[in-house]
Amino acid sequence: MKALVLTAVKNLEVKDVEMPDVKPDEVLVHTAYAGICGTDHALYAGLPGSADAVPPIVLGHENSGVVAKVGSEVKNVKVGDRVSVDPNIYCGECKYCRTSRPELCEHLDAVGVTRDGGFEDYFTAPAKVVYPIPDSLSLKAAAVTEPLSCAVHGVDLLELHPYQKVLVIGDGFMGQLFVQTLLAQGVEEVTLSGLSEDKLKLNHDKFGAKTINTAKGEKIPNDTYDIVIEAVGRPETQEQAVEAAARGGQVLMFGVGNPDDKFSINSYEVFQKQLTIQGAFINPYCFEDAIALMGSGKVDVLPLLSHEFDLKEVDDFVNGRIKGVSKAVVKLAGEEA
Ligand SMILES: [Zn+2]
Ligand SMILES: [Zn+2]
Repeated sequence: MKALVLTAVKNLEVKDVEMPDVKPDEVLVHTAYAGICGTDHALYAGLPGSADAVPPIVLGHENSGVVAKVGSEVKNVKVGDRVSVDPNIYCGECKYCRTSRPELCEHLDAVGVTRDGGFEDYFTAPAKVVYPIPDSLSLKAAAVTEPLSCAVHGVDLLELHPYQKVLVIGDGFMGQLFVQTLLAQGVEEVTLSGLSEDKLKLNHDKFGAKTINTAKGEKIPNDTYDIVIEAVGRPETQEQAVEAAARGGQVLMFGVGNPDDKFSINSYEVFQKQLTIQGAFINPYCFEDAIALMGSGKVDVLPLLSHEFDLKEVDDFVNGRIKGVSKAVVKLAGEEA
């Protein structure tokens, strides 16, 4: 079978490899699609993602496919099931796992980060992170369950009410996922601010978001929003997020910044507006919700997927030779898996 192997930092090679075997608690998945995201760029360049990736390794942590084989102890899925795979495997034994905060696990393993992922024809995962998907959900959409589940986790950390007006800063893939997730959960109004006329128009026309095009000089108002979600990860937009929050506001710092970046904050503003500033890391047990949001049609990810690559094109993508990518998936067996 074919695999795209990260053989060393910044070196990807398509290779013929042995089909992996399953341990008693594992599942072998015939890969349909694998999403590719910012974390893959970081891992390719030798930087950490949710954990460190040590070559040789097969990346791909946003995966869908069909169960091809199950280990002797597996009960939750069977051969032929269409599935989405949560990359994150918690140890279950550390202080964080045992206090209902597994996302902060001290021994995080991840499919496509610390063990081989979906940029290959078949990959294995522990059955406990393999989720069956409904017939209403395509395998292509299911490949991005993981990023959607990260948005679900971010929203779970907030206190939501129907009266709230929300601002999402950043019209990248994650910002756009937040728009639909928040509207599905019943907040009154979501405004998306960003730089792309096309993406803003899509989110306005198709999903009902208000929009602010900062590239055209439209301004984000101060002291206005009950919830602000920063989905860029830059100091300027982080500062903007705090300023845009209304009294009693909640600010979710979701965008992944450069590890050395800092942003300045007016502590009097935090005091006087009684702000809550919250981080969000990965996606603890959010797969069922993400699958339900897509399966029910409340969240439609397909219009947000701009590119479909084959394995060989991944190298061009991570090296910046393919431009204008909003969100790409790598097609392995596709819907025929
Ligand atoms: Zn990702
Ligand atoms: Zn743990």
